[in-house]
Amino acid sequence: MAIVEPVPASSESARRRLSLRSPASLEPIGEIEVHDQSDVEAALERARKAQPAWAALPVEARARYLSRALKVLLDRADDVIDCVIRETGKTRSEAVQMEIFASADLLSYYAKRAPKFLAPESRSLHGVMRFLKKLTLQRIPLGVVGVITPWNGPFVLAINPVAQALVAGNAVILKPSEVTPFSGMMVAEIFQEAGLPEGLLQVLTGDGETGAALANAAVDKVAFTGSVRTGRKVAEACAKRLVPCTLELGGKDPMIVCSDADVENAAAGALAGAFMNTGQYCCGTERVYVVDSVADDFIDAVVRRAGKLRQGAEGEFDVGAIFWPQQMDIIESHMADAVEKGANVRVGGRRNPDLEGLFYEPTVLTDVRQDMLIMQEETFGPILPVMRVRDEDEAIRLANDTRYGLGATVWTRDPHLANTLATSLESGSVCINDMTVTFGIPEAPFGGRKDSGVGQVNGESGLRGYCHTLPIIADRFGGRNSRSFYPFTSKKADGMLKTARILFGTSLGRLLS
Ligand code: NAD
Repeated sequence: MAIVEPVPASSESARRRLSLRSPASLEPIGEIEVHDQSDVEAALERARKAQPAWAALPVEARARYLSRALKVLLDRADDVIDCVIRETGKTRSEAVQMEIFASADLLSYYAKRAPKFLAPESRSLHGVMRFLKKLTLQRIPLGVVGVITPWNGPFVLAINPVAQALVAGNAVILKPSEVTPFSGMMVAEIFQEAGLPEGLLQVLTGDGETGAALANAAVDKVAFTGSVRTGRKVAEACAKRLVPCTLELGGKDPMIVCSDADVENAAAGALAGAFMNTGQYCCGTERVYVVDSVADDFIDAVVRRAGKLRQGAEGEFDVGAIFWPQQMDIIESHMADAVEKGANVRVGGRRNPDLEGLFYEPTVLTDVRQDMLIMQEETFGPILPVMRVRDEDEAIRLANDTRYGLGATVWTRDPHLANTLATSLESGSVCINDMTVTFGIPEAPFGGRKDSGVGQVNGESGLRGYCHTLPIIADRFGGRNSRSFYPFTSKKADGMLKTARILFGTSLGRLLS
């Protein structure tokens, strides 16, 4: 993400403006306006006008816009990559993998499957009810969805909820992070070039003021991705208006390396988990618990591999920049706390002295303690703290000793142990012998427990979350049953009780229920 600074007020613009500089080159990359409450209200009015005609289209027709957006994205991939790199200083490989590949995959996934996931569904009823009534579920779009996004995956984390909300029949107002607004604007550009009718996707740039105005506006749902602190505010705003929200928040993901793990694979996975996106990855590996019997081998492998990573932005590098200065402050404060409390810096441990922009060296720490900030609070940087533990039980206890519960990884050759540990972790998802890849697998519901979020997103159930599921129940006898409802008589009540005893208390009845 970029470096963001206020622009001095001018008589030409009534709105506040922010200027942005690249975190890698420190060069200016543009300015944005901070949209306010009146802009949100105007956008909402436009969205309300556009949405009914969109909702009236068959899902297949809406899905075709996703297919067209996919084609535009692939044609304009280089523009998106350049934009993301300019704003974030992430490596080209990461921009391709995390922003382009993942976005193309999800557009293709929902374009192909939305018609099936959102189709009216007949459900057969249980017991005698099946002889009396018919049930159909219809998916009704909610209306206008506010999407508020963070800076770490500025394109994919915007296009994912936007595409789902749109194909489900809603209009969308997107508020991208003030640190990466241009990637958010690219999402709108892609859909515009795909021919999306006007008013259905509007982008409002700005900072917390704009986000708060959107969260408090009369939208029908808020899809929020960002920090726990802001997530609470969004939840409060939605609670006041009694509208649903999904909150995808921060994490402190643990990695457990068991005594039977393939140590080289685990070391490679630890590096990918901790240093991908320069550690600014919600499901990044933020702490490792390695069982004592394999700890030396694991630490040696991690230190050897981490020492070979190449850092930079333009060119072939493994680890990029820190996306904005505030994140650098957090990383440095966590590191200072760890070193003061006795952590041993095995690799890195400082800003990269050879690079001008915001670069922190990939860092491996050992001799860490559970009470250090680096083991408790989300660091969101290229830091890999490794703690030795006696056994897997101690690893689980320490892994769960946190207010977060987003993702976790377990490294073992034993599938039974993997399952036991996975179900013991207080985590939104668990990956075995892999870094956390849950977000990229839409079949897996994605969401956090504890402070890491509310609700699960993606896939069939996530997509349906952008609709109201309307049960339509029809009486098979045209309503004739209603005639026998009144008057209540003791005879009818006794009959009902007898029926209950037969249906739920006999083996014949249980066959029917
Ligand atoms: P942030 O909470 O500071 O900002 C997120 C968005 O909220 C931005 O667009 C911001 O302008 C807006 N905002 C700020 N104040 C607001 C308010 N009062 N009301 C409404 N919106 C407001 O988060 P960030 O620093 O941009 O992102 C980093 C965080 O996001 C990390 O904690 C990371 O773990 C988390 N994250 C989570 C996931 C996930 O899926 N769980 C994914 C990516 C990032």
